[in-house]
Amino acid sequence: FRAIATNLRDEHEQVLGTVVVVENIGEENNQKTKHAEFVSSVAHELKTPMSGIKAYVEMLIDGDCDEEESQELYGFINQQIDRLTRLVNSMLNLARIESGVVEIKRHDCELNDILKSSADVISPNATEKDIAFSTELSDLYLPVHVDKDMLGQAIINLLSNAVKYTPHGHEVRLRSRMEDASAVIEVRDTGLGIPEDSLPHIFDRFYRVPENNASAAGTGLGLALVHFIVTNVHNGAISVQSKVNEGTCFTITIPLGHKEQKKKKQLASPA
Ligand code: ADP
Repeated sequence: FRAIATNLRDEHEQVLGTVVVVENIGEENNQKTKHAEFVSSVAHELKTPMSGIKAYVEMLIDGDCDEEESQELYGFINQQIDRLTRLVNSMLNLARIESGVVEIKRHDCELNDILKSSADVISPNATEKDIAFSTELSDLYLPVHVDKDMLGQAIINLLSNAVKYTPHGHEVRLRSRMEDASAVIEVRDTGLGIPEDSLPHIFDRFYRVPENNASAAGTGLGLALVHFIVTNVHNGAISVQSKVNEGTCFTITIPLGHKEQKKKKQLASPA
């Protein structure tokens, strides 16, 4: 808080009283700190591939490499440029959604339809990796009032991670069920798992589990986007349970109900 005190005086300079204005600047400072942290992590993330590219280009300029070595360096440069492109695209996507530039289009939908479409997108990736991908969707009609593209994107991110961080021949399962006044979605895998000390950071921007990312390409922004879409856009909740070398389960809860039905209920309820 910031307090500014001003004395009120009459024409003889006698103090009549004091006006104290108290401002809550905590939130403003908090926002500034968050912004500074974000800019610094973006700069850090961009610097790594850029210094890689610079080092490889310098080696090529020096001209000490034979044809085969040069080809290898071009390959490394290409990989780093792909990484930069992925980072920039993910950052733009997250920033556009978080800042409200992307219009949120909520409609009355059936949740299992969204889950089926997301599963269809990921199914070929699972097959390619010889992963047994199954869906166990609730037999019940699950009415939700959501932006189906955004929620679909969140489910695709979770499924794509499940496939990415699960070795060949393992399992990934997508489930839905009704629980109280909510629809519950579960994305479970029998993959690498997430160490306990990493779990509190898993939804942070740019956070990647050091042990899991030796071979998998990524940005550390996917789960931050999922978290934003579930909690901020849809008033839902997301949690994760995991055991190293046993697997991971992400659970999303979305409030049930169509807006139209809710409105009708409100109208029907006695005053
Ligand atoms: P990335 O682009 O690195 O995949 P995400 O934000 O989607 O970024 O995920 C953050 C990190 O969480 C990943 O780098 C990975 O270490 C870990 N992770 C996410 N999903 C899983 C999973 N299903 N199993 C194991 N680790 C996971």
